[in-house]
Amino acid sequence: MASSESPYLVVLGTLQDGGSPHPGCEKECCKTSNPSKKVVSLGLLDPGSGKRFLVEASPDITSQLKSLNQAYPGKNSIAPDGIFLTHAHIGHYTGLMLLGREAMNTRDVPVYAMPKMKLFLENNGPWSQLVSLKNIKIQPLTEGRWEVISPSLKVKPLLVPHRDEFSETVGYIIEGPHKKVLFIPDIDKWEKWRTDIVSLVREVDHALIDGTFFSAAEVGNRDIAEIPHPLIKESMALFEALSEKEKQKIIFIHFNHTNPLLNENSEEARLVKSKGFRIAEMNLRLGL
Ligand SMILES: [Zn+2]
Ligand SMILES: [Zn+2]
Ligand SMILES: [Zn+2]
Repeated sequence: MASSESPYLVVLGTLQDGGSPHPGCEKECCKTSNPSKKVVSLGLLDPGSGKRFLVEASPDITSQLKSLNQAYPGKNSIAPDGIFLTHAHIGHYTGLMLLGREAMNTRDVPVYAMPKMKLFLENNGPWSQLVSLKNIKIQPLTEGRWEVISPSLKVKPLLVPHRDEFSETVGYIIEGPHKKVLFIPDIDKWEKWRTDIVSLVREVDHALIDGTFFSAAEVGNRDIAEIPHPLIKESMALFEALSEKEKQKIIFIHFNHTNPLLNENSEEARLVKSKGFRIAEMNLRLGL
């Protein structure tokens, strides 16, 4: 189904790894369930070539694949044309399990992974079985090198500092014929990164970035030093000097269940928007 329509990105999930409602949470934030919201994931669609890719294999991959497939209903394959992984934390790769023999039993689905992520999948069950049974085919990524995935789409991984227990962590720049989108769902702190995020925002058209916690108050009895993220309050201060136009590029994503931005009518959500920033929503579509 060739089409002259430009490629685009669609937000298929906006939540932190544990989702919402969050397991074990008895607080107000998880009193009502929110089934329409999913764990962080993006779809990349290129109507010209009929290809569609996932960025992240989240625990919500079943519904996310369905959304991806609905974009091109004529296509007979239910597996995506490729999956890009950022790192080995549960919200970002465990959806791969559903590609295996017990579920989809896919054939050679390209899974784009950095070197440590690749080794992790190859050497630990159940992921190693996806490799040995050829359900997936790992495509090695190199930091800073473009991966051309369709005639009009390319993707580049950028290493970012994060709790790298099992793998390194990357963010991606996704580039189409017209637009460039930065995606960094997890990073410890902007100051720990050797890249200047403010300059990088100027170079792209949209930046979907770590908005896990609005403020330290959300973390409760857990030590925030063990789960560092740039707090949205800190990020807004960092980006304060950007022009209105540049600020509109910033779209916070990867929200913890405690994050008040999950309620679009909260005071905090209104504050973020009044300062010129954006909040990722399900099915948000960005032209590439
Ligand atoms: Zn995460
Ligand atoms: Zn909660
Ligand atoms: Zn993580």
